[in-house]
Amino acid sequence: MRVDIKSQLIYYSKKLQQKNFVIGPGGNTSCKIEDRIAIKPSGLEFEELKISDLVEIDLSSENPSLLPHKFRPSSEYLMHVKIYQMRPEISCIIHAHPPYVIGLTACDIEIKHLFPDGVVYLGEKIPLIDYCTPCTTKLAELVQTNIKHHHVLILKNHGAITIGENVKSAYLRMELLENLAYIQWIALNLKGNLNQINFLSKENIEEILNLESEKYRQDILK
Ligand SMILES: [Zn+2]
Repeated sequence: MRVDIKSQLIYYSKKLQQKNFVIGPGGNTSCKIEDRIAIKPSGLEFEELKISDLVEIDLSSENPSLLPHKFRPSSEYLMHVKIYQMRPEISCIIHAHPPYVIGLTACDIEIKHLFPDGVVYLGEKIPLIDYCTPCTTKLAELVQTNIKHHHVLILKNHGAITIGENVKSAYLRMELLENLAYIQWIALNLKGNLNQINFLSKENIEEILNLESEKYRQDILK
Protein backbone atom coordinates (compact mmCIF):
# COMPACT_ATOMS: atom_id res chain seq x y z
CA MET A 1 0.00 0.00 0.00
CA ARG A 2 1.36 3.45 -0.92
CA VAL A 3 2.50 5.62 1.95
CA ASP A 4 1.12 8.94 0.62
CA ILE A 5 -2.57 8.18 1.26
CA LYS A 6 -1.65 6.92 4.74
CA SER A 7 0.22 10.19 5.40
CA GLN A 8 -2.86 12.10 4.30
CA LEU A 9 -5.03 9.98 6.57
CA ILE A 10 -2.79 10.76 9.55
CA TYR A 11 -2.76 14.50 8.69
CA TYR A 12 -6.54 14.83 8.41
CA SER A 13 -7.19 12.48 11.35
CA LYS A 14 -5.17 14.82 13.60
CA LYS A 15 -7.23 17.76 12.30
CA LEU A 16 -10.39 15.98 13.49
CA GLN A 17 -9.08 16.10 17.05
CA GLN A 18 -7.68 19.65 16.72
CA LYS A 19 -11.12 20.86 15.61
CA ASN A 20 -12.88 19.03 18.47
CA PHE A 21 -14.75 16.73 16.10
CA VAL A 22 -13.64 13.93 18.46
CA ILE A 23 -12.52 13.80 22.08
CA GLY A 24 -9.92 11.32 23.39
CA PRO A 25 -9.71 7.98 21.55
CA GLY A 26 -13.18 8.43 19.96
CA GLY A 27 -13.84 8.24 16.23
CA ASN A 28 -12.07 6.24 13.56
CA THR A 29 -10.70 6.74 10.06
CA SER A 30 -9.48 4.48 7.29
CA CYS A 31 -8.17 4.58 3.74
CA LYS A 32 -8.08 2.00 0.95
CA ILE A 33 -5.72 1.17 -1.88
CA GLU A 34 -6.64 -1.71 -4.13
CA ASP A 35 -7.76 -4.64 -1.94
CA ARG A 36 -6.37 -3.45 1.36
CA ILE A 37 -7.57 -0.97 3.95
CA ALA A 38 -5.53 0.75 6.67
CA ILE A 39 -7.54 1.70 9.76
CA LYS A 40 -6.90 3.50 13.04
CA PRO A 41 -6.24 1.09 15.89
CA SER A 42 -8.60 0.79 18.84
CA GLY A 43 -7.89 2.93 21.90
CA LEU A 44 -5.39 5.38 20.40
CA GLU A 45 -6.03 9.11 20.03
CA PHE A 46 -5.66 10.70 16.59
CA GLU A 47 -3.11 13.17 17.97
CA GLU A 48 -0.66 10.34 18.80
CA LEU A 49 -1.25 8.32 15.63
CA LYS A 50 1.67 7.28 13.37
CA ILE A 51 1.58 5.54 9.97
CA SER A 52 3.04 2.36 11.51
CA ASP A 53 0.12 2.25 14.00
CA LEU A 54 -2.46 1.74 11.22
CA VAL A 55 -3.84 -1.80 11.16
CA GLU A 56 -4.34 -3.38 7.73
CA ILE A 57 -7.23 -5.54 6.57
CA ASP A 58 -7.18 -7.56 3.35
CA LEU A 59 -10.46 -7.27 1.43
CA SER A 60 -9.49 -9.47 -1.53
CA SER A 61 -11.72 -12.37 -0.49
CA GLU A 62 -15.33 -12.55 0.68
CA ASN A 63 -14.16 -12.86 4.29
CA PRO A 64 -11.85 -9.94 5.14
CA SER A 65 -8.69 -10.94 6.96
CA LEU A 66 -6.73 -8.96 9.51
CA LEU A 67 -2.98 -8.65 8.92
CA PRO A 68 -0.82 -9.32 11.98
CA HIS A 69 -0.22 -6.15 14.04
CA LYS A 70 0.59 -5.23 17.63
CA PHE A 71 -2.68 -3.26 17.85
CA ARG A 72 -6.31 -4.28 17.39
CA PRO A 73 -8.21 -2.44 14.63
CA SER A 74 -10.86 0.13 15.56
CA SER A 75 -13.84 -1.57 17.20
CA GLU A 76 -15.94 -0.17 14.32
CA TYR A 77 -13.83 -1.83 11.62
CA LEU A 78 -16.78 -3.91 10.39
CA MET A 79 -18.62 -0.68 9.53
CA HIS A 80 -15.65 0.40 7.38
CA VAL A 81 -15.36 -3.01 5.70
CA LYS A 82 -19.06 -3.04 4.78
CA ILE A 83 -18.94 0.47 3.28
CA TYR A 84 -15.86 -0.36 1.17
CA GLN A 85 -17.45 -3.61 -0.01
CA MET A 86 -20.54 -1.72 -1.20
CA ARG A 87 -18.81 1.40 -2.59
CA PRO A 88 -15.68 0.35 -4.53
CA GLU A 89 -15.07 3.94 -5.69
CA ILE A 90 -14.50 5.13 -2.10
CA SER A 91 -10.94 5.45 -0.72
CA CYS A 92 -11.53 7.03 2.68
CA ILE A 93 -14.02 6.76 5.54
CA ILE A 94 -14.18 9.16 8.47
CA HIS A 95 -16.25 8.62 11.60
CA ALA A 96 -16.28 11.42 14.19
CA HIS A 97 -18.41 12.84 17.00
CA PRO A 98 -19.01 16.46 15.92
CA PRO A 99 -20.74 18.25 18.85
CA TYR A 100 -23.17 20.55 17.01
CA VAL A 101 -24.33 17.70 14.74
CA ILE A 102 -24.92 15.44 17.76
CA GLY A 103 -26.55 18.22 19.82
CA LEU A 104 -29.05 19.35 17.19
CA THR A 105 -30.06 15.89 16.03
CA ALA A 106 -30.40 14.64 19.64
CA CYS A 107 -33.10 17.34 19.94
CA ASP A 108 -34.77 15.98 16.78
CA ILE A 109 -33.72 19.04 14.80
CA GLU A 110 -33.09 18.05 11.21
CA ILE A 111 -29.92 19.53 9.72
CA LYS A 112 -30.90 21.31 6.52
CA HIS A 113 -29.07 23.40 3.96
CA LEU A 114 -28.34 27.04 4.70
CA PHE A 115 -25.55 27.83 2.21
CA PRO A 116 -24.41 26.60 -1.24
CA ASP A 117 -21.18 24.76 -0.29
CA GLY A 118 -23.15 22.43 1.97
CA VAL A 119 -25.34 21.43 -0.97
CA VAL A 120 -22.39 20.92 -3.32
CA TYR A 121 -20.35 18.65 -1.06
CA LEU A 122 -22.98 16.95 1.15
CA GLY A 123 -25.70 16.41 -1.47
CA GLU A 124 -29.36 17.32 -1.62
CA LYS A 125 -30.42 15.62 1.60
CA ILE A 126 -28.45 14.74 4.73
CA PRO A 127 -29.57 11.25 5.86
CA LEU A 128 -29.83 10.18 9.50
CA ILE A 129 -30.30 6.84 11.28
CA ASP A 130 -31.68 6.29 14.76
CA TYR A 131 -29.43 5.36 17.65
CA CYS A 132 -27.92 1.87 17.52
CA THR A 133 -25.36 0.35 19.90
CA PRO A 134 -21.79 1.07 18.66
CA CYS A 135 -19.44 -1.72 17.54
CA THR A 136 -22.28 -4.07 16.58
CA THR A 137 -22.97 -5.89 13.32
CA LYS A 138 -26.43 -4.30 13.38
CA LEU A 139 -24.91 -0.79 13.27
CA ALA A 140 -22.48 -1.79 10.51
CA GLU A 141 -25.35 -3.16 8.41
CA LEU A 142 -27.59 -0.12 9.07
CA VAL A 143 -24.78 2.21 8.00
CA GLN A 144 -24.08 0.14 4.88
CA THR A 145 -27.74 0.32 3.82
CA ASN A 146 -28.28 4.00 4.57
CA ILE A 147 -25.08 5.49 3.10
CA LYS A 148 -25.57 3.59 -0.16
CA HIS A 149 -26.53 6.69 -2.21
CA HIS A 150 -24.83 9.37 -0.09
CA HIS A 151 -21.45 10.67 1.04
CA VAL A 152 -22.60 11.46 4.55
CA LEU A 153 -24.69 9.82 7.27
CA ILE A 154 -25.61 11.10 10.74
CA LEU A 155 -25.83 8.52 13.54
CA LYS A 156 -28.30 9.93 16.06
CA ASN A 157 -26.94 10.31 19.63
CA HIS A 158 -23.55 9.18 18.37
CA GLY A 159 -21.88 11.09 15.53
CA ALA A 160 -21.46 11.11 11.77
CA ILE A 161 -19.77 9.27 8.92
CA THR A 162 -18.42 10.86 5.76
CA ILE A 163 -16.85 9.07 2.80
CA GLY A 164 -14.82 10.22 -0.18
CA GLU A 165 -12.90 9.24 -3.26
CA ASN A 166 -9.89 10.53 -1.34
CA VAL A 167 -9.00 11.56 2.22
CA LYS A 168 -9.38 15.30 1.63
CA SER A 169 -12.93 15.04 0.28
CA ALA A 170 -14.08 12.82 3.17
CA TYR A 171 -12.56 15.28 5.66
CA LEU A 172 -14.06 18.32 3.92
CA ARG A 173 -17.50 16.75 4.14
CA MET A 174 -17.13 16.22 7.91
CA GLU A 175 -15.96 19.81 8.37
CA LEU A 176 -18.82 21.18 6.27
CA LEU A 177 -21.40 19.07 8.06
CA GLU A 178 -20.32 20.38 11.47
CA ASN A 179 -20.09 23.94 10.10
CA LEU A 180 -23.66 23.64 8.79
CA ALA A 181 -24.90 22.38 12.16
CA TYR A 182 -23.05 25.23 13.91
CA ILE A 183 -24.56 27.89 11.64
CA GLN A 184 -28.01 26.37 12.11
CA TRP A 185 -27.48 26.54 15.89
CA ILE A 186 -26.56 30.24 15.59
CA ALA A 187 -29.67 30.92 13.50
CA LEU A 188 -31.85 28.98 15.93
CA ASN A 189 -30.49 30.98 18.86
CA LEU A 190 -31.09 34.26 17.07
CA LYS A 191 -34.62 33.45 15.97
CA GLY A 192 -35.66 30.99 18.66
CA ASN A 193 -37.81 29.07 16.20
CA LEU A 194 -36.91 26.74 13.32
CA ASN A 195 -39.82 28.07 11.25
CA GLN A 196 -38.24 31.51 11.14
CA ILE A 197 -34.93 30.36 9.67
CA ASN A 198 -34.49 30.90 5.94
CA PHE A 199 -33.31 27.47 4.77
CA LEU A 200 -32.44 27.00 1.10
CA SER A 201 -35.54 25.92 -0.84
CA LYS A 202 -35.80 22.75 -2.96
CA GLU A 203 -35.54 25.01 -6.04
CA ASN A 204 -32.42 26.75 -4.66
CA ILE A 205 -30.83 23.33 -4.05
CA GLU A 206 -31.68 22.00 -7.51
CA GLU A 207 -30.25 25.11 -9.17
CA ILE A 208 -27.01 24.82 -7.19
CA LEU A 209 -26.61 21.14 -8.08
CA ASN A 210 -27.16 21.93 -11.77
CA LEU A 211 -24.56 24.69 -11.96
CA GLU A 212 -21.73 23.72 -14.31
CA SER A 213 -19.23 25.52 -12.05
CA GLU A 214 -20.32 23.46 -9.04
CA LYS A 215 -20.14 20.19 -10.98
CA TYR A 216 -16.55 21.16 -11.79
CA ARG A 217 -15.83 21.79 -8.09
CA GLN A 218 -17.34 18.40 -7.20
CA ASP A 219 -15.29 16.64 -9.89
CA ILE A 220 -12.02 18.24 -8.84
CA LEU A 221 -12.40 16.73 -5.37
CA LYS A 222 -12.34 13.21 -6.82
ZN1 LIG B 1 -18.31 6.67 17.34
